Parts: sequence; C-alpha cells; structure tokens
Amino acid sequence: MYRDKRVAVIIAAGGAGLRMGAELPKQFMRIGGLPVLTRTAEAFENNASVDDIYVVAEPARAADCRAILCASIAKLRGVCAGGATRQASVFAGLSALPAAVDLVLVHDAVRPFVSQGCIDRVLRCAAERGAAAAAVPAKDTIKTVRDGVFTETLDRSALYMMQTPQAFLRPLLCAAHAAAAKAGFTGTDDAVLLERIGEKVYLTEGDYDNIKLTTPEDAAAARAIAARADGAEGGLRVGSGCDAHRFCAGRDLILGGVRIPHDRGLLGRSDADALTHALIDALLGAAALGDIGGMFPDTDARYEGISSLLLLTEAFAAVRSRGYALINADATILAERPKLAPYIGTMRERLARAMGTAPERISIKATTTEGLGFAGREEGVAAQATVLLFRE
Ligand code: MG
Repeated sequence: MYRDKRVAVIIAAGGAGLRMGAELPKQFMRIGGLPVLTRTAEAFENNASVDDIYVVAEPARAADCRAILCASIAKLRGVCAGGATRQASVFAGLSALPAAVDLVLVHDAVRPFVSQGCIDRVLRCAAERGAAAAAVPAKDTIKTVRDGVFTETLDRSALYMMQTPQAFLRPLLCAAHAAAAKAGFTGTDDAVLLERIGEKVYLTEGDYDNIKLTTPEDAAAARAIAARADGAEGGLRVGSGCDAHRFCAGRDLILGGVRIPHDRGLLGRSDADALTHALIDALLGAAALGDIGGMFPDTDARYEGISSLLLLTEAFAAVRSRGYALINADATILAERPKLAPYIGTMRERLARAMGTAPERISIKATTTEGLGFAGREEGVAAQATVLLFRE
C-alpha cells in the first residue's frame, strides 16, 4: 500500500527481443547469473509500497515466466497473455487487475536496474498528482533528419528520454487506454496515451542506470551495471544452519549421506541426517529462501525415509536458480560417539556430489562436547554449518 492506495505493477514482458539478436528474448537472458525478468520483478518485490505484481507475456512464454519467478516473487499474482503490441499487452494486464487496485505502475521487463528511489518517486508523484513517469535529460544533441540531411536542432534543455516505471491512478490509465483503442492510436509508452487526451503526466527523476536492454551492446552495459549493483552488496552471501536429532534404537545412523555403523540411529521423518540438514539450512539462509521445514514440510509423506542428499540437491538447485554459486561450506558435527573421523572424507564427497561441486569446497569437522549437554549424554547428535555464496 502507498498511503491508503493499493498498488499493482504491470511488467510488460511480451517483447520478442529480435533486435538483441539472441536466441532467447532478452527478458529471459541471464545477466550476472539471474534472468533479466527476475531482476526486474525483484525490484518491485522489494518495494514495500507495491502489493501486487502482474507480468504480461507472450502466451507461449507464460509458463517460463512463472517458472523463473515462482521461487522468489511472493507478490506475483498472475501472468497474463499479452497482445500484439506493448500497448495491447499493458491493456491486457490492466484488465486482469482486481477491483481493489487504486494505483498502477507500468514497467518494462527489460529494465532490470530500476532503483527503489526511482519507483518511490514515481509512486509518490502519481499518488499526489494522478500520473507520473520517470525520465532523464537527453545527453546528446538531438536533430531531425530528412532525406539524409539535418533539418533542425532541437533545444536539448527541453528534451527528456522516457523510462519506466510510469504510474497512474487507475481510472486515468483505464480512460487513456480506452480512448486510444477507440481512436486506433498506438503509442510507445503509456504516458503518451494520457497526453493525447489532455491529461498531465508529471516528470520524475529517472536514472541513467535504468537502461532498457534493446541491442547487443546493451548486454555488455547491463553486465557492468549488474556487477556494480551486486558488488554494492558485496555479491557475497553468508548463511548459517543448525540441526539436532534424537537417538533411537532400530534406525541407521546417517550423517553427511554416509551410513555409520553404530548401535542406534537418529529419529526423524527423513533419514534424520542432521549434518545435511544443517547444510541445507545454511544454503537456504544465505539465499534468503527460508528454511528446510518450509521447503520440505514434515507433514509431506514424500519425505518419509528420504535420503537427505536428495533434499540437498533440490535445495541447492533453488539456490543456483537465484544466481548463486558456492564458495565454501564449513560444518561441525557434535557427537560423543561414535568416532566420526574415518567417515569425514566420504561425507565431503557425497555432499559435494549432491551439490555438483568439488569436495575441496566443503569442510567437515566433528567434536565431542566432553560429556556436556544432550550430545555429551548421547541423547542425540547436533550439527552446524556455515556457507558462503557469491552471485555469478
Ligand atoms: Mg533435521
């Protein structure tokens, strides 16, 4: 909500991206390890004023959009089928909004570097004045040309390059689209639809980094901006995990995916591999993807007796889908008995294999607690893990 207004964003992701010359439409291209559309949607996911995210895509690409967004975009309410033009696609998105939405942001999927400040400025201005759009002053001298000859030099101080987001009180945007449709007018942004019916659209400060990925040169610029943006938060993510399971008779003792000869095992829905569970929690924590209980609910019968290595593979795939790679993991098992040193090498290999990484990236230690606490009393086993990820 912004003040008392419910805010939705329509992300126009319908373009075929032919000018980019890439195999994939540019909204699906990976920049710095993440699909462009994911970066774009994340900007709105992370904005506290935005309530609902709608993506408009080519019908054939709708499933791809859902697949890349479902893990991280909790505000995603729908992926709608777009029309033949950008304008028709935005109109399709507009038609899909629930009645409760008051304020509508429209944004190009291929502008993944929109800043929070830019979104906030456009929202604030539109809430107060009805309609607003981000733009930046033209840097180059702009001339008109006829038959290969310059005909006029435009006054640069009055020229702005339009960006998105553009934001509108919903009735204004609906009226502008309806009028354009009635007149058969097609515009290249939404602001022009309001301009032509005499409504004012107010300028808000855009951002030169808020580039639109259009041509192959843009991809190189985008990589540089992504490296800078990700670098600003270090590009590194640390996570920690901790788990414990109780000993019980009649079960195998599994730690780090290795069955360890012992007179009892650990109790749990899965194989109760406390080390692997701690590592999973550390990985999910580093990527802010919740925890093991959220990803693999205890109540789900699928996980009865399952090897935790399979859960690790799945959890790490989710982390990778967010664009992260593992730098290293370090874990400690707390157990009084049995002696674990002979199994550590195999644990490292199995955990590494489950993540498709090298054992050298994974360190495992084991310690007793000198008879202290539940581990010392041999009531159970605990493990803790720390991981470091980087965004590729
Ligand atoms: Mg556990």
